[in-house]
Amino acid sequence: IARYISYDAQHATNVIKRISHCSLMWWFRKLQDKVALITGAASGIGKATATKFINNGAKVIIADINQQLGEETEKELGSNATFITCDVTQESDISNAVEFAISKYKQLDIMYNNAGVACKSPLSIVDLDMALFDKIMDINVRGAVAGIKHAARVMIPRGSGSILCTASVTGVMGGLAQHTYSISKSAVIGIVKSLASELCRHGIRVNCISPFAIPTPFALEEMSQIYPHVDSQRHVDIIHNASVLKGVYCEPDDVANAALFLASNDAKYVSGHNLVVDGGFTSFKNLEFPPPDQVQ
Ligand code: NAD
Repeated sequence: IARYISYDAQHATNVIKRISHCSLMWWFRKLQDKVALITGAASGIGKATATKFINNGAKVIIADINQQLGEETEKELGSNATFITCDVTQESDISNAVEFAISKYKQLDIMYNNAGVACKSPLSIVDLDMALFDKIMDINVRGAVAGIKHAARVMIPRGSGSILCTASVTGVMGGLAQHTYSISKSAVIGIVKSLASELCRHGIRVNCISPFAIPTPFALEEMSQIYPHVDSQRHVDIIHNASVLKGVYCEPDDVANAALFLASNDAKYVSGHNLVVDGGFTSFKNLEFPPPDQVQ
């Protein structure tokens, strides 16, 4: 009898432990039952954010121009991820993606305008290719504006929502990238401030994240054009060596953590903000003056 009682007590303790573990996990899921739409979510920063959002209880629509990668990502992330083909330069694609979220889940809580491209444009303004300029602005700027427009359309009646965009340190500081890309990311930071001023009246927060360089396919492609004579591991090293914060590098997960904060109730009073994720790079001088004994 004593053995039975002790078995039962131990069994009961295990069950209680398991239940409390589950409810603790539930408690810490910052986006439980939220619905998010992320553009450019089939790779890099967007994919890392989709993964983080799902792990925190959200349902995520992966909106990307790359169908093959999108379908693979959907499969990899499981039943709370749904892929939809979306080219952010087509307003109708963005509108359809938003309608898809509403028809599937009846709500849209988070819109993350993350899709973006770099470009190898001439370094001097006098050689600027205006057709290429228009193409980049179409994706990086017009795409983000259209995303905010259609998310706002469905968020305003509900009186809540969190809208995010991916900007860049190159939009904070001049001289870090080609003019076209820098200008496009500066514009994203401006768009966020302008639209936050209207959407705050509807309880909708609008913020952006400015990451430092991360060796995603996007950045590696650009590095291979600048340094075609070295391999991709060397490209990764060059990016990592540019980090000013000793011992760590900027990774997609760092941006995903920033996105989770801004999307969640933890940031309920944060709007119109540009959250810079750069290890301090844009906050202080990165220039060393020569020591006095080396100056003639
Ligand atoms: P990535 O190449 O890994 O992912 C970009 C995704 O966007 C891809 O899945 C691609 O298919 C998709 N995409 C491209 N054009 C699209 C379009 N017209 N419509 C829909 N989807 C489209 O690159 P990433 O580094 O994850 O870039 C994501 C964002 O982060 C971009 O806005 C980029 O400008 C920004 N960013 C990147 C870095 C970096 O160093 N990697 C730094 C700062 C900011």
